[in-house]
Amino acid sequence: MEKIVSLGKIILSKLEEFGYEAYFVGGFVRDLLLNKKSDDIDITTNALPETVEKLFDKTIATGKKYGTVTVFIEDEKFEVTTYRVEKDYLNHRRPESVLYTNHLEEDLKRRDFTINALAMDRFDKIIDLFQGQADLNNKLIRAIGNPDERFNEDALRMLRAIRFVSKLGFSVEEKTAESIRNNIEKISHLSNERVLVEFKKIFKNSYNKEALKVMENLNVAEIFREFNQGIRVYNNSNYELNFIEFFTMSLFLENAVIPDYWRLSNYDRLMISTILEILYKVRDNGFTPYIVYSYGLSKSLSANRVRLVLYNSPSEEFSIKTIFNNLVIKKRSDLKINGSIIKKNIKNIEPKKIGNLIMEIEYHVVNNLLKNDELDLIKYARNKLENING
Ligand code: ATP
Ligand code: MG
Repeated sequence: MEKIVSLGKIILSKLEEFGYEAYFVGGFVRDLLLNKKSDDIDITTNALPETVEKLFDKTIATGKKYGTVTVFIEDEKFEVTTYRVEKDYLNHRRPESVLYTNHLEEDLKRRDFTINALAMDRFDKIIDLFQGQADLNNKLIRAIGNPDERFNEDALRMLRAIRFVSKLGFSVEEKTAESIRNNIEKISHLSNERVLVEFKKIFKNSYNKEALKVMENLNVAEIFREFNQGIRVYNNSNYELNFIEFFTMSLFLENAVIPDYWRLSNYDRLMISTILEILYKVRDNGFTPYIVYSYGLSKSLSANRVRLVLYNSPSEEFSIKTIFNNLVIKKRSDLKINGSIIKKNIKNIEPKKIGNLIMEIEYHVVNNLLKNDELDLIKYARNKLENING
C-alpha cells in the first residue's frame, strides 16, 4: 500500500513540476482512509490527456474520450483523469460529453457521494469539500448536493449507493435514501448492461445481505419485478447466494423465465436455466446419483444453496458430495463402452440406435444396475438390441 502511494506520488510530483495540479482522488482515497486495499488508483489533474501522455514514458489512452490516460510506474498502473465537469445527462444516463475544467472543486462536485469526493495531495493532505471524512466516520453514504438532482442526472448512482452498502457495510443517509425511494422508477431508463455490472458487484461484495435489505427498503423490486419475492425470501434467510443463484431463486419463486431485457451472457443464461431445471427435478425426490452425475457437482451445490434459502431446510451439501464421490463414473468417457466398441462387436447395428443405447447404459451404470465392465456392457447391448429387433 505504502509502495503504491509513493509510486503514485512520482506522478503527482512530476505534474506539479510542470506547473499542473494533481491529486489522488475518489475510491482510492476513501479506501486508504478506511485502511482497505483499492483495486484501482485514480489521480485527478488539470493537465490535459495529451500532456499526461507526453510527460510519462509508459501510458495507454484507456479512456481518452473521457479524459483518462493510464500511466504505468514500475508495475503499478494509475488512472490519470483530467478535471472535468459533466454536461447533458440524457435519459438519466451517463454524460453525453465531457468538459474539462481548471478547478479541482468542480471536478469533486460532479462525483456521486461525499465519501467518493475526497482528494489527497502528495503531502498526504486531505481535501474534503463535502464533509466526506465525517460521513466516513459515521459510515454514511450521502449524495453530494441535492440528491434528487443527482439521481436525475444519472440514475445509476442509486444502484451505486447500494453497491457501496455492500462494499463498505455503510448505511444510506436518510435524505439520500428518501430520494432513492422517490426516484427509483428512473432506473428503468438505464441500459441493462450498466445495471448488470452494479448488480454483480452488489452480490460479490462482503455486505451483500445488508445491501439486499436496503434494496427491499428502497423498493428496488418495483423496477425489477422478477426479484419481488426473491428479495424478501432472501432477506428472511441466513444464507448467502451469488448473483446467479439469487436470480435463479427469484425466477423459481415467480415460476418465470429470464426476462428479455436482462443482457446476461450465454454462460450466465445457461447456468440459470440449468440450476432451475435441477430445482424442478429435485423438488419431489431430492438429489439422486443420476441428477448429480448429469448436472455435475458445482451446479448441484448451487441448487442446494438456493433450496436452503427457499425452504430453510437443512443443507444437503454433505450428501450431495458423498453421492458425487461415490459415483461409479463421473463422465460419459469413463464408461467402458462407446460407439466404436459397440459397432465393432455388434454387426449390422443401425448407427442411429447407438446414441440412445449408450444413454441407457450410462443411466444403468450410474444407478449401479449394471457393472462398468466392457464385456458385461457389450452383452447388455446385444441383448437389448435382440429384444428390440426380435
Ligand atoms: P470501487 O472500489 O468499487 O471501484 P470506486 O469509488 O473506485 O469504488 P468507481 O466506479 O471505480 O468507484 O468510480 C471511481 C470514482 O469516480 C468514484 O469514487 C466517484 O468519485 C466517481 N464516479 C464514478 N461513477 C460515478 C457516477 N456515476 N456519478 C458520479 N461520480 C462517479
Ligand atoms: Mg474504482
